[in-house]
Amino acid sequence: MPKSLAGQMALLLGLALLVAQIVNFALILNERQKLTLAQTQGPAINRFVTVATDLRQAPAEFRDAVIEDNSRRGARFAIAGASAVPVQAQRHPQIEARLTQALATAGIRAGEARATEVTERRRPRSGTGKAEEHRILILSARLDSNAWLNGRLVIPRPDPFLTLRLAAATLLLYLIVLGASSLIAIRIARPLRDLARAAERFGGRGTPALVEPRGSADLRRALEAFNAMNRRVVALLDEKDRMLGAIGHDLRTPLASLRIRVESIEPESERQRMGEIIDEMATMLEDILVLARSGRSREEERVMDVTALVDALVEEYREMGHDVTLATSAREVLKVQPNLLRRAIRNLIDNGLKYGESVSISVRRDGESVGIEVLDNGAGIPPEQLEHVLEPFYRVEESRNRATGGTGLGLSIARAVAENHGGTLSLDNAPGAGLRATLKLGPTG
Ligand code: ATP
Ligand code: MG
Repeated sequence: MPKSLAGQMALLLGLALLVAQIVNFALILNERQKLTLAQTQGPAINRFVTVATDLRQAPAEFRDAVIEDNSRRGARFAIAGASAVPVQAQRHPQIEARLTQALATAGIRAGEARATEVTERRRPRSGTGKAEEHRILILSARLDSNAWLNGRLVIPRPDPFLTLRLAAATLLLYLIVLGASSLIAIRIARPLRDLARAAERFGGRGTPALVEPRGSADLRRALEAFNAMNRRVVALLDEKDRMLGAIGHDLRTPLASLRIRVESIEPESERQRMGEIIDEMATMLEDILVLARSGRSREEERVMDVTALVDALVEEYREMGHDVTLATSAREVLKVQPNLLRRAIRNLIDNGLKYGESVSISVRRDGESVGIEVLDNGAGIPPEQLEHVLEPFYRVEESRNRATGGTGLGLSIARAVAENHGGTLSLDNAPGAGLRATLKLGPTG
């Protein structure tokens, strides 16, 4: 069973049409055969009945003359004591019935009527040329107790191509209708496929993935509605990004002036505490700004070795005394936005170190894309939370405990960066280890 709409429609229509055409073909063939039978045998039967009528009306001494007079133009008649059609011959009950009926209509009650058909090879009258096949109908009727009228009449040969012609016509019709319906099915399926592709491509950011409206009016309307919705969603998300960006930006200045004022606060411990809070707010603002801007990639793309980029980061962490290792050395060159990418990987490493103690990173190519895997040795994330932790501000530990605390933006930023590179961020709990975060960078990145 084909899966596509066009395939299913073509198959179903093809089967239904096939059955209908076969029935139609059988009916027409049957009718045609009856018709040709009537056309070929009708005149022969009529001639036979005419001779029988003439014979009955003629006086006894003229009977031979009547027989002789009628025995021409492909017919031969004779009166005999026995039927020219033997009882056990291959007889035509249909023709016999019609003969009896025709005789009765002419007022002749035949004791018995027999009919059979033979083929004979005869040379043309001129005596030269090839012998031809002739179809001969032998009719025989008992006119009185011991006299049979026998007639041999040449009848036209049936059209040998009748069935063939009819079959060809049926097949042609079948192909035309099937072709037309397949075309319609394809015309419906194509815009639907476009729609599915556009919906899959839909990232909610940047230029909306539009479908070219085509096909029938109702399909067109559905596609246009999809496009309109697409534009609205993109506009809404844009608006959200813009707003976040504006808020983040506008808060920066007051925060900076607050930091200056804090410098004059006494006692020293209080000042330090306030400074920390302001730092935290600044970091959070910075994160919000990155997240808001990530959809509108301002950073220039550069072709570079992703493994080298990760290696440099790992080195940084090691210098700070963290247990971070890189398990790959193969170069993986890709077009990336290095600053954003660094930030995303840092967020993943930070998480690994915050919720575990050691982090191991590997870089591997998967066809067109490159995957950066960050694995830690922590407790992982409960499966039912895996989806939610990617949302901004969502944290598994809701207490917002300062010790392990963050804003809950790290993973959202990492995901936004991945999507910016035409890729994805996926999380799963590695068996026997902690969380495994895979940052996949798409081929277009
Ligand atoms: P920040 O914005 O400072 O990164 P955060 O680390 O709390 O704050 P995310 O990085 O977005 O925010 O992570 C969201 C939540 O997912 C975390 O609060 C944590 O509960 C959980 N999580 C993230 N990474 C891990 C990990 N490697 N192991 C266990 N839990 C994790
Ligand atoms: Mg984090």
